[in-house]
This record gives sequence, C-alpha cells and structure tokens, in this order.
Amino acid sequence: MSALSQAYRSRQKVLGYPVDLVDEASALEIVEAAWRAEKGLHVVTLNAEMVVAAQQDQRLDRIIRHAHMIVPDGAGVVWAIRLTGHHVDRLPGIDLAQALLSSAAAKGVGVALLGGRQEVLSTLLEVLPRLHPGLKIVASHNGYFSQEEEAKVVENIAQADPQLVLLALGAPKQEYFADQWRSRWNKAVIIGVGGSFDVWTGTVKRAPRGFQRLHLEWLYRLLQEPWRFKRMSSTLPKFGLQVLIDSCRQGLTGWHRKEKP
Ligand code: UDP
Repeated sequence: MSALSQAYRSRQKVLGYPVDLVDEASALEIVEAAWRAEKGLHVVTLNAEMVVAAQQDQRLDRIIRHAHMIVPDGAGVVWAIRLTGHHVDRLPGIDLAQALLSSAAAKGVGVALLGGRQEVLSTLLEVLPRLHPGLKIVASHNGYFSQEEEAKVVENIAQADPQLVLLALGAPKQEYFADQWRSRWNKAVIIGVGGSFDVWTGTVKRAPRGFQRLHLEWLYRLLQEPWRFKRMSSTLPKFGLQVLIDSCRQGLTGWHRKEKP
C-alpha cells in the first residue's frame, strides 16, 4: 500500500472537510514517496478560518476536498478532531515546509519559491541555503505580479522542473493558484505556506515556543497583527459553535444506535 493510501485510511472530517491524521514524519514519507514516483501532490494546511471561508466559497471548498494531503495546521482543527475521540497533534504548515526543505536539500530535489515581497524573497534566497546546506533553488519569483504576467511566471517555474513548490501568497490566493496551475508543474509537490517567507527572513516574528505548545500561536499573531481581529472574530466563534453542534449531533446519533437492539 502506498504511503498516501495508508494516510487516507486515517482521514477524519472536520465540518465535512477531510483532514489526514499525519504527523511530520508521516507527511514527509508521503512527500518523499511522491518525489520517488515523480508524481505531483497538492498539500493543504487546514485551519478554522479556511474551513469557514470554504463554506461560503465553492471554489475553495472543491480545492480542499480534492487536495491530495490535508494537514491539521490550526489549533481549531485539532480541537475538532480530538472531540471525536481521535488523537492528532498540530502540524503547522511552516514546520512541515521546513522539514520538506531539509529533505529536498538532502535528496537534491529542485525547489521553487513563489511569493512574498521582492526584498523578502531576496533575503530568503540568501537565508535558505544557509539553513539547508545543499538546497537546490531552481526558480523563484516574488508574489506581486499582474494577471498578464502570471502565465509567464508559471512557465518560468515549469521550465526549471521543480519537485517542490512553496507558494507564499496567503490563503486562499495560494490555494487558487495551486489549483489553477498545478498541471503545469506536474511533478511538483505544491504547498501553500502563507507568511512563512516573512518568518524565515526575520521580517515577522513567529510565536515563542510557549504559545506554540499551548496551541495559542493564533493569539500571538493577533497581538502582533491586530488587523486580523476582524477576520478572526467573525470566523472562529462560527467554527467553534458549528463543531460543538456537530459533536452533540454525532453523540446523539451514536447514543441512538447503541439504544437500538
Ligand atoms: N503575498 C504575496 N502576494 C499577494 C498577497 C500576499 O506574495 O498578492 C504574500 C505576503 O507578502 C505574505 C504572504 O503572502 O508574505 C501572506 O502572509 P499571511 O501571513 O497574511 O498569510 P496567511 O498565513 O494569513 O495565509
């Protein structure tokens, strides 16, 4: 059985959206198997905000459902899965991306970087090879280009034939982008990494370990970037309430089933 089909067996749903119960090691195994087979994969790092956005956005809804691997990036998603009695830990996209870069460097896999402001990307091109000696960056472009330039940017990356593409365009733009163009990068594992380029270059500070351990990375981000409050305050309570209702419903259904002779 392939690493990917094994992962599908431990897939759970959060408000109807699939989540693979993978940790960093098993996610890495799936990606490395894809590299060996020269197969493309779309990896989505799911959090509560994306789930609520997808409920009102058919395109994002379809993209999440069709992704090859959906990892539990957010604390809300992990909480929802644990309520169903399954154990899973957070696998933040930034940590997975870092592990993928290390593995790519060790295996000589070509990497493309797309996204971020030009000055961030320029710093990143110096920082990443220091962090991951031997890293082969075969293509890169900042994330600010026009609609007319888009196909050319995609084509330049395709010419370099990467097997790992990190898209740092923010959600859901990076998910739309991966979906629209992944047939042009058909041997690549594509993952949306949000603001990771900003963190790796020191442009934005990541939450200290304590916040990460307590699953409060979102709170730290909110304190650093208060403009996120409006978005979070309209989505997180909605997510929490729906999960609780869903969990009560499941509990009642289970109880009914047990009651029936
Ligand atoms: N970005 C980009 N092009 C765009 C919009 C955003 O390259 O058109 C980059 C932006 O510079 C930042 C990242 O995408 O580095 C978005 O980071 P954010 O933390 O907002 O993403 P999230 O994690 O919230 O999806």
